[in-house]
Amino acid sequence: MSAPTSTPSTASAVASAPAAASGLLTRTQLTAVAVALLAITWGFLPEFTVVVMSYIGLYSIVAVGLVMLTGVGGMTSFGQAAFVGIGAYATAWACTSPAAVQALSGLVGMGGLPWVGLALGLVLTFVVAWGLGSVTLKLSGHYLPLCTMAWSLSLYYLFGNMQFLGGQTGITGVPPLTIVGYSLADPRVLGVLIWAVLLVSMWLMNNLLDSREGRAIRALKGGRVMAESMGVDTAHYRIKLFVLAALLAAVSGWLYAHMQRFVNPTPFNLNIGIEYLFMAVVGGAGHLWGAVLGATVITLLKQKLQDVLPSLLGTSGNFEVVVFGLLMIFVLQRFAEGMWPTLQRLSNRLLRPSKVSPPKSAAVLEQRTLPASGSVILEAKNVTKRFGGLVANNDVSMRIKAGEVHALIGPNGAGKSTFFNMISGVDDPTEGDVRLMDKVMGKSPSRDFAALGLGRTFQHVRLLGQRSVVENVALGAHRRAHKGWIASMLRLDRGEEAALLAEARRQIERCGLGAFADVPAASLALGQQRIVEIARALAGQPAVLLLDEPAAGLRHLEKRALADLLTQLRAEGLGILVVEHDMEFVMNLADRITVLEFGTVIATGTPTEIQNNQRVLDAYLGGADDLAAGITK
Ligand code: ADP
Ligand code: MG
Repeated sequence: MSAPTSTPSTASAVASAPAAASGLLTRTQLTAVAVALLAITWGFLPEFTVVVMSYIGLYSIVAVGLVMLTGVGGMTSFGQAAFVGIGAYATAWACTSPAAVQALSGLVGMGGLPWVGLALGLVLTFVVAWGLGSVTLKLSGHYLPLCTMAWSLSLYYLFGNMQFLGGQTGITGVPPLTIVGYSLADPRVLGVLIWAVLLVSMWLMNNLLDSREGRAIRALKGGRVMAESMGVDTAHYRIKLFVLAALLAAVSGWLYAHMQRFVNPTPFNLNIGIEYLFMAVVGGAGHLWGAVLGATVITLLKQKLQDVLPSLLGTSGNFEVVVFGLLMIFVLQRFAEGMWPTLQRLSNRLLRPSKVSPPKSAAVLEQRTLPASGSVILEAKNVTKRFGGLVANNDVSMRIKAGEVHALIGPNGAGKSTFFNMISGVDDPTEGDVRLMDKVMGKSPSRDFAALGLGRTFQHVRLLGQRSVVENVALGAHRRAHKGWIASMLRLDRGEEAALLAEARRQIERCGLGAFADVPAASLALGQQRIVEIARALAGQPAVLLLDEPAAGLRHLEKRALADLLTQLRAEGLGILVVEHDMEFVMNLADRITVLEFGTVIATGTPTEIQNNQRVLDAYLGGADDLAAGITK
């Protein structure tokens, strides 16, 4: 077994860290000690340090949201500062505008106004983020970052031009927070709240990432097609993640307003939005603690640079922005994943791996009743697919029955993958119907296919390479459990999560990869990664299994093991379609074979019929020996 190339942050993965580590503390204990130290020394730190630490806390809250959005979810936003602004302005307005004060103070008292401000900020942010998200998140590539810049700029100018928000001067006289009559005016006291909010947010996010929903969020980075095939509604998840990051930013803005006691548009402009992104990326875009590290480094550095640069250069100006740009390039060159993973690797040598207690009382996952053996479960009726003038599939019909292995073969470019995409919902036929479980699928997305019992693998393996094999496989069972984001954040999903992981392990064992369950998927050989994809598909308890070249890259014994597995699955009543080039494998395994050439079916029949079919032999020309290989072996 090769050593893990990186150590993921979830508890289950930490357990697999090299046993060589022999430190005193586990990672969790070290965190607890650090937090305790901070708490104990907090009262003695100099005033200035407390203020700087409070700012670092505020920035970290925003950066934690960005780690979720950018590092984990793969969406880049330059616009988080605008959401901080919404949070800050909402509370400043609620606490100071005569109209609001008059209407609300009678109800909640003056001390209650900031809490109304918080609620207002969160609601506004929710609405704005959901609205912006549903428009901009549909865009791909460079458009999303560009859009975040655009609305960041527009919100900034909006703040500056609204007279009731004080224009460029902003709003002064924002009151300090009070909690049950106790004032948080002293920065040392407010700082405690800021860090408490930060730590609680990180705990919630950590829990979310370490759950079924977290796997779905990570899957967003694995590409839309893969995530959708696992039953994840990617558009919905992207919007939710975007809103979540925005809400964290708004909470930071709320705290900021009550710390500064005034707001103006400057801290919410695009520059600062870019700085937040720096923090997340420099710290380590995929790691929650990287957000805190990034916020600390950038805040301290910015302060130093603002002091030093103007006197060095003899003029004043925002030179730190230039230096930041250079710094970012350096860090990304040197530490591609940000600084946190490097620190983590170093610390792994000093830390003791944490023990994972076996989960108690696993919940029961949703079970599917498989259709009777011999019934048609997937059917393509006269399916044609055109790409412009090219007819990739021409009037293809095929039936896949429960308890049968059906092979689809044909020379390169024959249209096999195209057909595969249409019967799995990745693409829609130009003409003709696909029926799954007797349901006409029309233009249904692939997650609907998954819901009806279709599991699949990909010709080009699509796994989350950095995550462990067991996490990758558990993603396949996504649809069989139901706990949502809030339940996951609050750890109310443990029974279900234990059941999902147990199911994943069962499928990994079954596919013969038990020894690799806890290593990152990318550390496996390509052939084994294909098997992981099969295990992932099986975790969804499919009725139909579509395998695109499952034997490619496997050694002889591994191929035989795969054939045994598929034979067993067939006996259990699954319907299996394989696209495969290895003729020996196909001829020995398949019950029926369909041959495609130039997008057209030229033959369908048993292996023996196919091997004796003249058209097929002609189509394969030089490959005829390959075809014959199946008979002789
Ligand atoms: P196979 O998997 O059998 O090798 P494919 O289904 O990948 O074949 O391709 C069949 C034909 O369709 C090829 O000529 C290929 O170039 C073409 N094709 C596949 N996908 C697209 C696409 N998205 N746009 C245009 N042409 C495509
Ligand atoms: Mg192909």
